[in-house]
Amino acid sequence: MCVEKTPWEQVVDFHGHTCPGIALGFRVAQIAQRELGLRPAPAAELLVKAETQSCALDAFQILNKATCGRGTLQIKEKGKHVYSFQYSGTDDLVRIALKGDLLARVAEPASFPGPRQRQNWVLETIQFILTCPEEDFCTLRRTPAVLYNDTAAPRWTTCSVCGEAVRTDHAVQTGEVFKCLTCAD
Ligand SMILES: [Zn+2]
Ligand SMILES: [Zn+2]
Repeated sequence: MCVEKTPWEQVVDFHGHTCPGIALGFRVAQIAQRELGLRPAPAAELLVKAETQSCALDAFQILNKATCGRGTLQIKEKGKHVYSFQYSGTDDLVRIALKGDLLARVAEPASFPGPRQRQNWVLETIQFILTCPEEDFCTLRRTPAVLYNDTAAPRWTTCSVCGEAVRTDHAVQTGEVFKCLTCAD
């Protein structure tokens, strides 16, 4: 018998452990899906921009089918639990910012008396994240804007110092000569 995994089980399986961070991402992904609804065109892709690197991102890779490899999940590190979602080809942007009080409430204590206590804390915190009222969870803003539009194929050059291939938009150019950012430092 083959039992279909629940979305939560699929997300945790992919992520590799159960933690409050993946629960944050799970709830954000569901809110985004509810707001944006079904894809507006067969070719439309759900694009995600994350303003910090965290466990939450793996939920978007499973539930929203946005992946780092395809570039539909991009991380611009600003140290903020803020996530923007948009279907490609539209200008309907949903921006979800997690509340500061919530983040303080779910931050992991420095230590626990033992592993059982930590496990209990993880389960209670996940329960809280998934069930607290939405107004305590995040603020939601919906604006007409384009999330990102960098579909041009990358151009490659060779670093004049190390000889390694580097994308021109990530290299320092002096006249006709390029240096990669590692060598330019
Ligand atoms: Zn995690
Ligand atoms: Zn170089």
